[in-house]
Amino acid sequence: MKKLDTICVQGGYKPKSGEPRVVPIVQSTTYYYEKASELADLFDLKADGYFYTRLANPTVDAFERKLTELDGGVMAIATASGMSATLLAILNIAGAGDNIVASKAIYGGSYNLFSVTLPKYGIECRFFDPDDTEENIEKLVDDKTRAIFAETIANPTIVVLDFEKLANIAKKHKVLFMVDNTLVTPVLCRPLDFGANIVIYSSSKYLDGHAVALGGVIVDGGNFDFSATNRYEEFLKPDESYHGLVYASLGKTAFGVKCRVQMMRDLGAIMSPENAFLTNLGMETLALRMERHCENAKKVAEFLNNHPKVEWVKHPSLKDNKYNALANKYLPNGQGGMMSFGVKGGSEKAAEFMEKLNMIAIVTHVADSRSCVLHPASTTHRQLSSADLIAIGISDNLVRLSVGIENAQDIIDDISQALDNI
Ligand SMILES: *Cc1c(COP(=O)(O)O)cnc(C)c1O
Repeated sequence: MKKLDTICVQGGYKPKSGEPRVVPIVQSTTYYYEKASELADLFDLKADGYFYTRLANPTVDAFERKLTELDGGVMAIATASGMSATLLAILNIAGAGDNIVASKAIYGGSYNLFSVTLPKYGIECRFFDPDDTEENIEKLVDDKTRAIFAETIANPTIVVLDFEKLANIAKKHKVLFMVDNTLVTPVLCRPLDFGANIVIYSSSKYLDGHAVALGGVIVDGGNFDFSATNRYEEFLKPDESYHGLVYASLGKTAFGVKCRVQMMRDLGAIMSPENAFLTNLGMETLALRMERHCENAKKVAEFLNNHPKVEWVKHPSLKDNKYNALANKYLPNGQGGMMSFGVKGGSEKAAEFMEKLNMIAIVTHVADSRSCVLHPASTTHRQLSSADLIAIGISDNLVRLSVGIENAQDIIDDISQALDNI
């Protein structure tokens, strides 16, 4: 197998003689075949090929193959956004009456999906504190549990996932372990290596890296045996909507194929070819960018940690960080560019600090090449009550900082002058 930085550049696409060197944008909804039987074989999954872009498209396919290679999975499904990736992954295995067990330290959008929207459709979510013991978290799992869900590094609370603790529970109960790896990328950590079965991304963040294309990805690890348990009945029975296909009989690709031929067919949340092209292009520099994000973040975290106007700093690279040991175990090559810190003086001072920044912008985005800040309590997490905010570890003076790939000293200088001016 090639090294990850090589896959970032060359993975997923190998042109034949005379074909474009760069993955082309195939801007076509449909595909031409000479014989009706060729198309019939595609519908029957007897042959590989394209027939309608809602199910597969060559540009999207190249991007999916790159992710599959990077994560060491068996297939990947690109989606319209990170949110649709999470939604499809859950709906692929859960229905009314089922439940999922999720860390409460997750992206605000995912938290809303799990706590408000999915319950409307009968899917219950049981949240756990990621710092809780294996025994306590295990108590939430019952025979209706369809997935255990967590983020490698949680946005914005910067909790590092204890893979071993959750993988033990998932293995013991033969339940799928899904990990949102958005803020880390496969370059820094491959969740499948640590017991995850499904990896989810918002490709709108580091994968694209330039804040130009919304997207998501579901990577099927191919390491879950659906025929070894009765938990996933739908995988064991013929799918009447797909002429009697029994997904478990497909073996390693059961989850991924079901997700594509059933979920994508019915819900249609595809990634557009143009967004796949842009994200794929961005990913050519993913390994290089992550190296710089990590290096810069480490320097900025140290600077903030020594600053008298800063109450606390959370970045796993810091020796005094609660998650430093887990970061050393699972993220030895760097801990990403996301951090949070508390400005002394509460919400007002935090907002004032942000307004005094010159180069670092206030945006509702993270994890692209430009440094940016956000005040979750008044923006992304505004819909949550103060009690909810405290419960998920977001204080009113918390500033989320996404460290970009500019020169580290310029980033530090901007933060320094803003802190001096409040
Ligand atoms: C942004 C984000 C999402 C949602 O992705 P979109 O592409 O914005 O829909 C999911 N998980 C994490 C960790 C994120 O940061």
